[in-house]
Amino acid sequence: MSGSTYLVAIGSNRRGHHGAPRDEVAAAVQALPGLVAAAPIITSAPVGPSIRQFANTAALIHTPLEPADLLGELKSIERSFGRRRGQRWGARVIDLDIILWSGGAVMGRGLTIPHPVFRTRDFVLAPLLHLVPRWRDPVTGRTIAQLHARLTRRRSVPSRVVAGAGP
Ligand code: ATP
Ligand code: CA
Ligand code: CA
Repeated sequence: MSGSTYLVAIGSNRRGHHGAPRDEVAAAVQALPGLVAAAPIITSAPVGPSIRQFANTAALIHTPLEPADLLGELKSIERSFGRRRGQRWGARVIDLDIILWSGGAVMGRGLTIPHPVFRTRDFVLAPLLHLVPRWRDPVTGRTIAQLHARLTRRRSVPSRVVAGAGP
């Protein structure tokens, strides 16, 4: 089959014209080009200085678009959802990130695939686990299921053991 397969992470922590963050995420999934499948929407604790809740999911899409062109399309969807510039880490109606694609690793100006920090984010790995548990991260060689297991295992270790301090 021609074209490429991509995994796109979708997040929102601000109301927009579709409604609450959950509604924004659901609408953004439908706006994606070449949608094949989407994971259930989850809500999770905020990252960074934001005090809001996030709604998150991930989608599998298939499209003839090259990575840079897909990123352009995702940014235009973000704009059409009312996202303004300079809202990194803050409240934004929608955030669309390319996490993985069928073409391996990309290190370009303004675009890195796999997404540089997706391995440390449960709100990305949990939806990916629904869609592509056996997909292999080309950088670490680990599957999504392995990355998710590592992340959740690490979390359950008491912090004093990690820090190496006594009881
Ligand atoms: P984070 O990268 O930690 O998830 P963010 O999504 O809030 O942060 P943005 O402000 O949305 O960051 O994006 C900053 C820039 O990152 C975008 O303008 C885009 O050019 C670039 N970028 C690099 N790699 C990717 C990728 N894989 N997916 C989406 N954007 C990317
Ligand atoms: Ca992001
Ligand atoms: Ca982004």
